[in-house]
Amino acid sequence: MPRRIAIVGAGQSGLQLALGLVGAGYAVTLVSNRTAEQLATGRVQSSQCMFGTALETERALGLDYWGESCPPVEGISFAAPSPDGGDAKAIDWAARLDRPAQSVDQRLKLSEWLREFERRDGRLVVQEAGVDDLERLASEHELVVVATGRGELGGLFPRNAERSPYTTPQRALGLTYVRGMEPRPGFSAVSFNLIPGIGEYFVFPALTTNGPCEIMVFEGVPGGPMDCWDDVRTPAEHLARSLELLERFLPWEHERCAGVELTDANGILTGRVVPTIRQPIAQLPSGAPVLAMADAAVLNDPITGQGSNNAAKSAEIYLERVLAHGDDAFDERWMQQTFDHYWLGYAQWVVSWTNAVLAPPKPHVVTLLEAAQEIPSLASAIANGFDDPRTFYPWWFDAEEAGRVIEAKRAQAARGLDPRELRNALGQFATGVTVITARADDGRPVGVTANSFSSLSLEPPLVLWCLARDASSLPVFRECTHFGVNVLSSGQHHLSRLFATSGADKFGGAAEVRDGPSGVPLVEGVLAHFVCRNVRQIDAGDHVIVIGEVEHYDAFDGEPLVFHSGSYRITTRHPELDAS
Ligand SMILES: Cc1cc2nc3c(=O)[nH]c(=O)nc-3n(C[C@H](O)[C@H](O)[C@H](O)COP(=O)(O)OP(=O)(O)OC[C@H]3O[C@@H](n4cnc5c(N)ncnc54)[C@H](O)[C@@H]3O)c2cc1C
Repeated sequence: MPRRIAIVGAGQSGLQLALGLVGAGYAVTLVSNRTAEQLATGRVQSSQCMFGTALETERALGLDYWGESCPPVEGISFAAPSPDGGDAKAIDWAARLDRPAQSVDQRLKLSEWLREFERRDGRLVVQEAGVDDLERLASEHELVVVATGRGELGGLFPRNAERSPYTTPQRALGLTYVRGMEPRPGFSAVSFNLIPGIGEYFVFPALTTNGPCEIMVFEGVPGGPMDCWDDVRTPAEHLARSLELLERFLPWEHERCAGVELTDANGILTGRVVPTIRQPIAQLPSGAPVLAMADAAVLNDPITGQGSNNAAKSAEIYLERVLAHGDDAFDERWMQQTFDHYWLGYAQWVVSWTNAVLAPPKPHVVTLLEAAQEIPSLASAIANGFDDPRTFYPWWFDAEEAGRVIEAKRAQAARGLDPRELRNALGQFATGVTVITARADDGRPVGVTANSFSSLSLEPPLVLWCLARDASSLPVFRECTHFGVNVLSSGQHHLSRLFATSGADKFGGAAEVRDGPSGVPLVEGVLAHFVCRNVRQIDAGDHVIVIGEVEHYDAFDGEPLVFHSGSYRITTRHPELDAS
């Protein structure tokens, strides 16, 4: 008998998880407060620009129905007006994304996904779910996931004050879907404009219910001149107000809008969001626990355009955790660990970056944005950080690190090498992924992700891997007597991301770890462990080659995690060579 799971909320995360689970043979009940028809014809709720990694999670489930018809977003551009006013820009740069982004209007996407859910024999219940409904669902299902986004039901989950620095909205939002806008020169992009002290405006191509369009997003500092939607009564007034703002603050964006019209009367939205992180588990009055997902647990201001990306990534992690759980009970421990995988390995970094962008920019951030005009690889790093904000650590947050990154990229540019292009070329070499672990003198475990692992010699049995010279764990790997190599299996990509993130709480529970021979921490669920004596290190460029002699090893069945061309992959036998 298939396992029974209920999901409340048919948004980006709820539908993606529901479709993944029905595809894997689970009996899924999805509660939506809107029918597919109501989703399709209602008001827009978001601008939903999704970057490469999030789109990949949809493709993996066969849900990318709009890959051909949706205009690509090929890059990010950044501009800030000159303090002297007029048409002059103080900062102006653009960089291409490694993989194009896409924005499919959620009215189109979610209504079609909901129909697909029913076609795949999912059970749809249309109602505004309340606590009594959750009780009923909890009594009939083994797991209840609440994915109600910004809906009131999320209030069931207690606010985590420590993780939520803001108690009031930090921006007044305005969304305007238009067509007829002049494309920006060069390549298509999210054109991000920062008007210090007043707010931000970004605009990008998208696909809406009646064809291609551009989505304008206004983020006004509360009480300032871009916090100006309260007296707007009609869609026509909303468009007129949007154009007035552009004419006044961003003349170069206004120039693109001579021929624009609204896509439809529902292509507008105004509102405010209080960025809020919640506890992931709520107890119903009966004592039954329910688990929050995506915005219901981790709600960001849209300023960095991360919400639906986060939703897709959390749905991917929750899906994997359910599939990997076999027949075991979905108890509170499993729920907390599932959320921790998402929070510790990914979401916490997105939240702190987004909250930093909401605050007035620190001087070193202004320096970074200015330097990106001169250093294309820095512009590229900032643009591509939108796909994975963990890459902003630590340099977005630390003046010294920012200076170091600027100098390193400037030096590379002077040598005529584009580091991103070089990295892309090197990324054509597919590798497995390992986490290398050791114990510091004080007993503290350390771990880093490495795909530079290689066998070196069979007699004696030697392996090698390479560690960046600026890695905070380098002193430990220089001093430790032993280290462990953990070869990750296909489902462990979240651990790869977690152990690749500087400053993350890597041993906080997201990875199951035990002590191996010589006290080396070993990660569970991997394909192989090698416990190595630390025999030699060789300095080479900005890395150190670490050589170890294998003293113990274990190998387990399973499929490997593969890294190729900047993406995680799984292997399949070659069809031309494997006739059996
Ligand atoms: C102005 C604006 C611009 C944005 N721009 C971007 C962007 O450019 N890029 C980006 O990635 N993200 C963006 N976002 C955020 C993004 O839309 C959300 O983060 C994302 O959709 C969250 O997914 P979710 O699954 O958590 O919730 P949602 O997609 O919000 O889905 C929740 C669903 O649950 C339903 N629901 C609520 N309560 C109940 C209930 N009691 N019973 C049944 N159903 C219920 C809702 O109607 C909804 O259908 C933006 C948001 C806003 C407000």
